[in-house]
Amino acid sequence: MLVTFYGGTREVTGSMHMITTQQDRILLDCGLFQGRRKDTAEKNRILPFDPRILTNVILSHAHIDHSGRIPLLVKKNFTGRIFSTRATHGACEYLLPDSAHIQESDADYLNYKAVRSLLADISQGKGEEGTGKRDAAKAVKLLKSGKNSLNREAIDGYIRKYSLERAQSLYSTEDAKAALGSFEGIPCNNEVTIGKDMTCTFYEAGHILGSAISIIKYRDGDRTFTVCYTGDLGRFDKPILKDPAQDFNEADRNVDLMIMESTYGNRTHEGTEDLYQRLRDELNTTFDKGGTVVIPSFAFGRAQELLYVIHELFMKGEVPRVPVYVDSPLASSMTKVFGEHPETYDRETHKTFLETGRNPFIFDKVHFVSSVDESMKLMREEKPHIVISASGMCEVGRILHHLRYRVHNPNNTILIVGYMAEHTLGRKILTLGQEYMESGQKGEPPMIKILGKEYPLKARVVRLGGFSAHADQKEMMRFLKGSNLDVKKIAVVHGEEQSSLSFADHLNQQGFQAFVPHAGETIRV
Ligand SMILES: [Zn+2]
Repeated sequence: MLVTFYGGTREVTGSMHMITTQQDRILLDCGLFQGRRKDTAEKNRILPFDPRILTNVILSHAHIDHSGRIPLLVKKNFTGRIFSTRATHGACEYLLPDSAHIQESDADYLNYKAVRSLLADISQGKGEEGTGKRDAAKAVKLLKSGKNSLNREAIDGYIRKYSLERAQSLYSTEDAKAALGSFEGIPCNNEVTIGKDMTCTFYEAGHILGSAISIIKYRDGDRTFTVCYTGDLGRFDKPILKDPAQDFNEADRNVDLMIMESTYGNRTHEGTEDLYQRLRDELNTTFDKGGTVVIPSFAFGRAQELLYVIHELFMKGEVPRVPVYVDSPLASSMTKVFGEHPETYDRETHKTFLETGRNPFIFDKVHFVSSVDESMKLMREEKPHIVISASGMCEVGRILHHLRYRVHNPNNTILIVGYMAEHTLGRKILTLGQEYMESGQKGEPPMIKILGKEYPLKARVVRLGGFSAHADQKEMMRFLKGSNLDVKKIAVVHGEEQSSLSFADHLNQQGFQAFVPHAGETIRV
């Protein structure tokens, strides 16, 4: 049995590995590379193999850096099945079309930019002789059909007229929908056949709704080879989801190769235990001053965790029951998916909510904002409330408008509950806001640019670190040492190079045999 590491090796995104036996080729995840367009566009477009050679795909969880290139497989004539847990299938029903929509908007924007710059050249006389300068200047205005919407037809017309190269989306909404038809939702702890003499069993990974650790077994004569793919590993004792599995069926325990993530392989998180207290304190501080709490959040996972914890604080009477607005259509859909999969919840969730007939995420104070009008009305709401909105890193989406209306007021709080990548507005707000708070909010407030305009950042900016969905180094060791697996070798993947290398070192010091593969490397199991 051969294992090839294609993506998510010495980097965090683009997870993809392949298991090859005499008869079959099984793909483990098919993730999108994320980051700056110029670094990722080519990597995403070119698959290192013809998808027609694949038998089936195993999908560890629905996050786009693990699932986001599945529609591309189907677009390129992959005909097998995609095995995942049922909750992952449910989440992909929304996340893959959403990803397609982002790809399509991206291509539209590139085409718009190309036409706009050509017309600008013509209007400034840089174009061919004889083209109407004034017409070109006028035409630029017609490329948009509203303040934030593009006139696709007009743009297409110019692309044809001037034979410009058209930017194509990686895949379309139709491709994403077609891919969903190939999904096969499998419950955890159920062995399914995925190839000749090959099976897969899913176990809880505790990372996000539906996330699974996969045990893949291949029988070759009287010898069985076992690969354990951790996918992304979650943390212990977090709200909602069950902890990462440690009790594996006897037949699954002898692991020849574990493919293990290492996102936080060289770091330790803030504990999960003080999460409730810290959130409670921040909410109370804000409401005492009559302020509003704005929370930029990922639509899948973080938004539902927030609802869960706020619901519990409300039930215990520890914070005033102010209205809670979820202002992100995707987050609203994902909340529905969470509600449909109680099989993934831990014992506390069952005890606190389900046994008393409550839905953990939907309670009388929660409002799911759907229309843009409703969203605009909410910006002007004066009474204290909580807004959970996307995108998580404040790059696009409705969160920008909430920030625009709230950042200038020192009574408001912007709560940072997720990772903010470099060069994002979220990172800027976090860094500048915290610096200003540490200075005792003295002197001129920092200015931040939202949708092209500058605003003074006077609102309190507070980071709550306990929400991370990835196990840190200690928790990964707890998973390994506490499990009943007997692991011969570990391939360390899904981490920045430094993180993976130092985690592999740590594993080797602890008596495991670990290595960090390079992209494209193949090993024999
Ligand atoms: Zn993930």
